[in-house]
Amino acid sequence: MMFVVGVTGGIGSGKTTVTNLFQQHGIVIVDADVIARHIMDKGGEALTAVEARYGKEALLDDGSLNRAWLRERIFKHPEDKHWLNDLTHPLIREQILSQLHQAQSPYVILSAPLLIENRLTKLCDRVLVIDVSEATQLQRTQQRDDVSEDQVQSIINAQASREQRLQAADNIIRNEGDESELTPQVEKLHELYLRLALAKQS
Ligand code: ATP
Repeated sequence: MMFVVGVTGGIGSGKTTVTNLFQQHGIVIVDADVIARHIMDKGGEALTAVEARYGKEALLDDGSLNRAWLRERIFKHPEDKHWLNDLTHPLIREQILSQLHQAQSPYVILSAPLLIENRLTKLCDRVLVIDVSEATQLQRTQQRDDVSEDQVQSIINAQASREQRLQAADNIIRNEGDESELTPQVEKLHELYLRLALAKQS
């Protein structure tokens, strides 16, 4: 099995910004968020199951998932949230494993906001946490997404705490400063992961 570095951090902490830098070193990024979004694509197993349960009401006119409808539904019916998680989590995991196996780079990054919450750390040789203060998370996410402070705060509250994440970390990138400060930190970690990946192979 490939050497896997799990990258995580709360909303707006800078996971994408950091993983883009690793990608520039030729490292393959498996993004759990992207996979989770595609799991409900048209023609897929998951969307067929959603239609079987809720009927056409859950779909848009073009046959794709009505995400707003489903979000509302699981907000109002907690048991539906469990059903949806039971449906999607194994499919997401399967897709993550498949992409990790196929990756062609000296090591591979698994980027997931809920790496710790969903126990994806089990798939990882190392865990890299992108760490920022809550104030920075609020400010950068609001600037990026045009959402209210309350909305960001409720997402922060639903995610693992900063302490929980730091406890699970083998390495930490602090992202309070200027974006340019990330480059040397990524370079150093890239060198480390190359060495560790080689050691795992031999
Ligand atoms: P999410 O979990 O919400 O997808 P993320 O962890 O992937 O977020 P990014 O999208 O990388 O976070 O960063 C959040 C926002 O903050 C982006 O608009 C990004 O450009 C900006 N940002 C990241 N790092 C810095 C920095 N050091 N200084 C200023 N802005 C930054």
